[in-house]
This record gives sequence, structure tokens and C-alpha cells, in this order.
Amino acid sequence: MSTHNLSNIPERDRQVTWHPFTHQSEAKYPLNIVKGDGVYLIDENGNKYIDAFSSWWVNLHGHANPYIAGKIYEQAKTLEQVAFSDFTHAQAVILAERLLSHLPKNQSKIFYSDNGSTSVEVALKMAIQYQHNIGQPKRKIIAFENGYHGDTFGSMSVAERNVFNTPFAPFLFDVELIPVPVSGQTSSLRGSAKQSYPTDSTEKCLSKLETLLKTGGVCAFIFEPLVQGAGGMVMYEPEPLEKILQLCKKYNCITIADEVMTGFGRTGKFWATNYVETKPDIMCLSKGITGGFMPLGVTSCAKFIYDAFLSDDKTKTFYHGHSYTANPLACAAANASLDLLEKQEMHDKVQAISTFFERMKRKYENHPAIADSRNRGTILALELKTPEGTSYLNQLGKKMAAFFLQRGIIVRPLGNVLYFIPPYCINQSQLEELENCTDELLANINNL
Ligand SMILES: *Cc1c(COP(=O)(O)O)cnc(C)c1O
Repeated sequence: MSTHNLSNIPERDRQVTWHPFTHQSEAKYPLNIVKGDGVYLIDENGNKYIDAFSSWWVNLHGHANPYIAGKIYEQAKTLEQVAFSDFTHAQAVILAERLLSHLPKNQSKIFYSDNGSTSVEVALKMAIQYQHNIGQPKRKIIAFENGYHGDTFGSMSVAERNVFNTPFAPFLFDVELIPVPVSGQTSSLRGSAKQSYPTDSTEKCLSKLETLLKTGGVCAFIFEPLVQGAGGMVMYEPEPLEKILQLCKKYNCITIADEVMTGFGRTGKFWATNYVETKPDIMCLSKGITGGFMPLGVTSCAKFIYDAFLSDDKTKTFYHGHSYTANPLACAAANASLDLLEKQEMHDKVQAISTFFERMKRKYENHPAIADSRNRGTILALELKTPEGTSYLNQLGKKMAAFFLQRGIIVRPLGNVLYFIPPYCINQSQLEELENCTDELLANINNL
């Protein structure tokens, strides 16, 4: 075993690391997690916590799942890495075949990268170069207000402009934002805007979209299907999405579904886009793809996109790649995760969580402390009323996280939006713990 010094890890952490999305001066010492076991994370003092946010939405089958761990180990002893340029390997090919068997039928090629942001970069570059290759000067990108697609420059450009990207605003390319077709929801995290959603947001969305499409020059539309994750778990219905996708088709606008968070059963179906008939041209996958074991990103595309890059003209090549593209360990982890996901048992577990959350959603709908209660599949979001209004920087989030942590549950609210997105291995009594803790929180909400 390791001969490294394992003492005082949190204090030493403070000296040498820089944490993501963390305000360094107000940060407490991070919790030193020494072990994962199913739905639990265990700290150095032996405290067990239910991981109710799936370690940033990536974990599907529980921590340290022995089946996935075994498959990674086997692969590591056989082939750990090979450049995916002039070479290939079975794990990448098998994974591509399996992903395509689950993806909508119009998807025909799999491009590998390392994470959600890169899967979005690849999608945008594919769409832009597609237009270039077929000789059309289309440059406009359309996206939803309140969206989030990652932290690289392209993915920041297609997101809502907010606290995440203010310093970079002058360096981001222009996008046309259209309203999210949410109706009835009181409010959401909307950067500085913070306005409530009008009941006619669907009509507003469709009419602005059609105006943009009619004006011409539109290259692509990128969207988070049905659930906008980092934007505060904002949810909308399949019907308006269907209309949006049909409009884009009508005007030959490439559609990019960012399923980085919603993929692999999160929304109750294998993909969130399975809720609609009209399929996207390009899809971005990551987060749950390896069950939360290894970083991996995938961009899939329809045949007509790929075909525009087939040419004797070298300038039409897609000159994009990463050192670890199609890493065999990541692909092995993804294949192992798919083995588990394809079992009927997993489908039943997803349904059980969905049913439980559907009931919780209704229970809190008219609670005096709650502005909005919403659910889609294995995701439940409760937007709390606060005098400060809805915002990512709302301090209520930190207080709620501390309240849950003291009771053995890890959550990471987005401002005043408390949400659960647990691993699929969570059982009924652990779900009840989430519910009981929520009841207790709401009963104490004025004394947090
Ligand atoms: C998390 C997320 C991303 C970015 O993925 P990373 O792996 O963090 O780079 C992109 N899109 C959506 C919808 C996400 O939720």
C-alpha cells in the first residue's frame, strides 16, 4: 500500500490546491473523504454521508462499484492508452456501437473527448465547420437563456451571461438567446435578470426563434433538453421542445442536444430527447457515461454532418482531438456502466426514484416556504422562497448544505434551489432519509 503521509489532509489541501467553483477565502476546510461505498461517502472520522448529488451528477451505480472497478483494473493491466489517430482498440469500438444502439437512429458517428465542456466544444466546432465545408456563410448560434454548457470559451459563449463568466464576457462570441419555454414556474436563476417566467414564455420562445431563423444565417441551436442543470434545475415540457426542433428542421438549422447531465436515465428515459419525436442532429454526452469513474466525453452526430467532412480536400478535415481521446480505461468504465444500465433492474430503480420524487414534488407544491417544486425522473428540485430573490449567490444554499451535512446527507444547492439527483442504487429507506431531512429543514427554515 501507499507509503504517503496521510495526516492532516484538509490543512495541507489548503496550502497546495485550488478548488473549482469555490470562494477560497470563505471556504471551510474541505471534508476529507477516504472511501466510497454504494450511495455513501465516508470521511476520515468514519462519518457516512448519503451522496444525494451523485458527486456532481456523475455517479450512477454507487461509489466504488466493484463490477466497474474490476473492468477498469482488467483493462489497465492490458492496455492503458493508445493514440486514437492511426490506431484503434476494442473498448472504443464496442462502446461506440453500444452508444449508437441506444442513441436516436439518426445518430451515426461517435467522437470521443474528455468531459462535458469538450463534448460541447466539439459539437459547436462540428456545426460551424459543417457550414464552412458546404460553403454556407452561416454564423449565428442560438441558445436558451439561463443555459449552462461548460467552462471552456466556446461552451461559456453559448451560456447565459452571469457570475460564472463575467470577466470573460468581452472574449466570448455572440449568441442569440431565446426564452426557455417554461410556464407556471415562479422564477429561476437568471443571471442578473431574475424576472419571473411569464405564462406565455412558450409563445415568446417560438416567435423569437422563428424570427431569427427567418432572418437567416443561423448555424445551430444548442439546448439542454427538458432540464437546465446548473441554471437551477429549471424544467420545461417536451411539447414546446418538439415545436422548437420542428422549427429548426424547417429552416435547416443544426440542432445540438447537450445531454451531458440528462443522459443515461437521469430524466426517467435513457435520453431526455427520447421524450420528443424530432431528433437532434448532434448530441453531447459525459457526466454519467462512465458511471462516475473516469472522465469521458462523447459527441455523436448524424450522417449528413459527418459526410460534409468526407473529401479529398484536406481543409475539410476535422482537426480536433485530445491526448486522451478514447482512453481505453474510460471506455472500459463506460462499457461496464452500460452493462449495469442495460439490466431491467436498473430501469426499475430509476422508476422507483422517479415515483418517490413525483410524490415529494406534489407534497411540497403548496408549502409556504417553497416557491416552486419540480421533478423530472430522478431529479427533484425545490426552489425556496427568500427575501433576496433567486440567485446562485443566495446564501441560503450554503446554510441548507450545512444543515443536510450535519444529518449525514450531501447536497449542493444552486443558490436557493435545493435539489436531489442521487445514484440509482439509492434504496427506499435512504430516499425517506432525504424526505425526512427536507421536512426538518422546512420546519426550521426561519432559524437556519
Ligand atoms: C456539467 C455540464 C457540462 C460541462 O461538463 P464538464 O464535464 O463539467 O466539463 C456541460 N453541459 C451540461 C448540461 C452540464 O450539466
